[in-house]
Amino acid sequence: MALVVQKYGGSSVADAQSIKRVAKRIAATKRAGNEVVVVVSAMGDTTDELLDLAGQITPLPPQRELDILLTSGERISMSLLAMAITNLGVKAKSFTGQQAGLMTDAVHGRARLVDVVPHRIRETVERGQVAIVAGFQGVSSTNDVTTLGRGGSDTTAVALAAGLGADVCEIYTDVDGVFTADPRIVPGARKVDRVTYEEMLELAASGAKVLALRAVEYARRYDVPVHVRSSFSSTTGTLVTGTYGDRIDPNAPDGEQEETPMEAPIISGVAHDRSEAKITVVGVPDKPGTAARIFEVVAGAGANIDMIVQNVSAAHTGLTDISFTLPHGDSPSTLAALNGLQDEIGFASLQYDDQIGKLSLVGAGMKSHPGVSARLFGALRDAGINIEMISTSEIRISVVTREDALDDAVRAIHTAFDLDSADGEAVVYAGSGR
Ligand code: ADP
Ligand code: ASP
Ligand code: MG
Repeated sequence: MALVVQKYGGSSVADAQSIKRVAKRIAATKRAGNEVVVVVSAMGDTTDELLDLAGQITPLPPQRELDILLTSGERISMSLLAMAITNLGVKAKSFTGQQAGLMTDAVHGRARLVDVVPHRIRETVERGQVAIVAGFQGVSSTNDVTTLGRGGSDTTAVALAAGLGADVCEIYTDVDGVFTADPRIVPGARKVDRVTYEEMLELAASGAKVLALRAVEYARRYDVPVHVRSSFSSTTGTLVTGTYGDRIDPNAPDGEQEETPMEAPIISGVAHDRSEAKITVVGVPDKPGTAARIFEVVAGAGANIDMIVQNVSAAHTGLTDISFTLPHGDSPSTLAALNGLQDEIGFASLQYDDQIGKLSLVGAGMKSHPGVSARLFGALRDAGINIEMISTSEIRISVVTREDALDDAVRAIHTAFDLDSADGEAVVYAGSGR
């Protein structure tokens, strides 16, 4: 008997009909002789709607209250799903994150899991029932309800799979797996059968929201095999694991099967991200210590910075510009903190730009192939797209463009690296892509 953790995203449970459809799938998994734990997201775009609602009350809602509000979305879907499964003659019980033993720190809005003690979930499956757990939420040591950040139900699922020693964690969504690019933007994107934790980490960190970054980090730490697949089809999806696995070559002589990780493909995909903005500190005196001071203040404002670019200073002025990118949401506090630094550092002004887009080409083996960046820049040139910032790592090249050029840029790069599928278009079954 296998223990399976299944996670259904918001688009898979968007309305009553979808909840009943998903319930059938869960009941079938249970009837096939498995122990089943289900993690569920809020229905459709409920989380965004709740955020909008809070925004109509006050521009800066207290974080504790916002967390209580947002967790209500998952309470609706978990209870309805339990009812739907029970209706099919399979016993099911729903639990909040707190009841399921998901213990977090006290950082509202992006709490981190500190412990997973799923006694009640274990008891429930041992009694032969399906346990439904509200995703994206936990409880702090002060007994306050917390949320794990957007996309956090993926993390709940992987953490429960690790805590329960599940055989697999299945992430059900509205596309057939992990593709070489977001199928909403690149219809010719190709589904990949397997991807390593490292590559998936880099894709998720670069904006491919099909799996939340923290969920991948967790899966890698506890070696949880994750199967990303569609709840709208029965197609096998993408397996995210530590290596490419044992590839069985039916023609290889005995004893010569490849058992070690294969040499990774050079490119695993193109990710994009519209959630960042750019701040430029203009006219910074080019002397030791200024960058340190600027980024101390940025860090103090709680901003998660990503790319940083500093120009050479203009020879006659001794002044330079420093630009960096950060999530939109971190911008107000960061701009306020930097404004407070103007007299001390003596920079000329601050510029804020939230109309940027970032794309990242991800793949192992990038470093040993210097032609990769030339090809990427050439493809953007041919598409007439201007590059505003560049950063590279061993397995990633990222560029910032105008936001309205981003989709074209992603498609141009996808084609330039021969990632386009030979067999038809990728299917997006549902969801708003929000
Ligand atoms: P869920 O509601 O199931 O959590 P999400 O909207 O969070 O679903 O994630 C699924 C979406 O991720 C897809 O509909 C797709 O638009 C997007 N996506 C972005 N990059 C990729 C990629 N490389 N492969 C597959 N999907 C991707
Ligand atoms: N409902 C939450 C969100 O929309 C968590 C999740 O779906 O993973 O971010
Ligand atoms: Mg998601």
